[in-house]
Amino acid sequence: MFYFSKSKYCDFKQCPKIAWLKKYKPEEYLVDAETQARYTAGNEVGDLAMGLFGDFVEVTSYRADGTLDLKKMKALTRMYLAEGRENICEAAFDYQGLYCAVDILRKTQQGYDIYEVKSSTSPEHHVYIVDTSYQKYVLQKCGVKVNRVFVVTLDPLYVFNGVLDLHRLFKITEITALVDEELGTVEESLQEAEKVMSSKEEPAIDLSASCNDPYPCAFFGYCTRNLPSPSVFCLYRLAYEKKLALYREGIRSYKDVLESGGPLNEMRRRQVEFALEDRGTHIDREGIDGFLQTLTFPLYFLDFETVQPAIPRYISTRPYQQIPVQYSLHILKEPGGELEHREFLGRPEEDPRRALAERLVADIPQDVCVLAYNKTFECTRIKELAAAFPDLQAHLLKIKENIKDLLDPFQRGYYYNRDMGGSFSIKSVLPAIYPDDPALNYHNLEGVHNGSEAMELFPRLKEMPEGERAEAERNLLKYCELDTYAMVKVYEELKRVS
Ligand code: SF4
Repeated sequence: MFYFSKSKYCDFKQCPKIAWLKKYKPEEYLVDAETQARYTAGNEVGDLAMGLFGDFVEVTSYRADGTLDLKKMKALTRMYLAEGRENICEAAFDYQGLYCAVDILRKTQQGYDIYEVKSSTSPEHHVYIVDTSYQKYVLQKCGVKVNRVFVVTLDPLYVFNGVLDLHRLFKITEITALVDEELGTVEESLQEAEKVMSSKEEPAIDLSASCNDPYPCAFFGYCTRNLPSPSVFCLYRLAYEKKLALYREGIRSYKDVLESGGPLNEMRRRQVEFALEDRGTHIDREGIDGFLQTLTFPLYFLDFETVQPAIPRYISTRPYQQIPVQYSLHILKEPGGELEHREFLGRPEEDPRRALAERLVADIPQDVCVLAYNKTFECTRIKELAAAFPDLQAHLLKIKENIKDLLDPFQRGYYYNRDMGGSFSIKSVLPAIYPDDPALNYHNLEGVHNGSEAMELFPRLKEMPEGERAEAERNLLKYCELDTYAMVKVYEELKRVS
């Protein structure tokens, strides 16, 4: 018998090769921290939405080994349907091996309504229609009369006032007509899927727009493994569609790009030429000097870490609002002077913004030069803090006005070497300047190596036993400290070459 599930069907519709690779080469599936965060948000939002219509029953059941007990879930669903329960969450169905669980199945006088819950703030992704048309197909085959179909998403404008109002937090959008249009394609798609999935031969599917829509595909590394490295897909700030168009014209390597006269602006040309031929470090002394002359001592190197909870936890915040929870600050009072370090780490149990803002104004005077790397992020967070705390507003806005961007000299092309690989993030620039310094290597840190990991770890602090929490806090502090220390080292390099 052919077994398929809702998620496999959605994978198949995005690209048949995704479903095939998940079955036959699961080890090639690379989940990054961002994808993991999306899964976690999805589970959290799904659990909360169960209460959207008041009382409900949930059929989710697990076996002793922690896997879903589908047999029990189907039996419970049958029982609740027979009892005429109004809201059944994770209602499980199976029609000849085609399995699906409905987030919320709601009984109405005309039949049952399907509610598909998404952690996104937009109800308009085609994948939601694909997903629910499969559900409607399976339910109808199981003899359930499906009336309407809805997608439940988060309202990005909802502001938390201390008590979660599910009816305002969630936005319900009816998609019945779109699902009915799509429904006619399900059977044919399933027949194709059966053929593809029963074959041991990998589908001959080339890269397409699907590799990046709606999300970057976790098999992209696998599917591009035979491309030259670096390839056209590494080009600096070029839209994926444009890279794909070049790839389709047979332009794969940097040499191809150069020879074909591809879309090379100054930065991309430098990226390509330096990669093809190691030209050492490109230094525009005048440009660097000009930037350094805008700085004044003392210098304050600042970096924030934030969390972005799907469900707002703190008063006056919205879904997915960036909440600053931590900062690191290195201070260089005079050229060649001793480096001072200050830091702040909030507690997830309470809104960390007030304490953070107070410490920030205590640590940074109103009239000093502050450096951030990609300053838009720090400036926006400070502006939000200023709006939230009017008594600190004047001081915070002065700090914001005084921020200079250490990214500028790199983004403007004043400093470039091959090892940057066309990326100017601090994680690329630092090892390209200091390739052999273990103290500047993010890989040598314990537990937290990037912002996504910090974002994922912070909310979990509150569930940790004391010792584990202390260690996790140390790791968060060390990570953020390296971010500003890295900025100091980058600044020193600019001084050295200028
Ligand atoms: S990277 Fe592209 S071609 Fe490969 S499995 Fe993913 S979507 Fe399909």
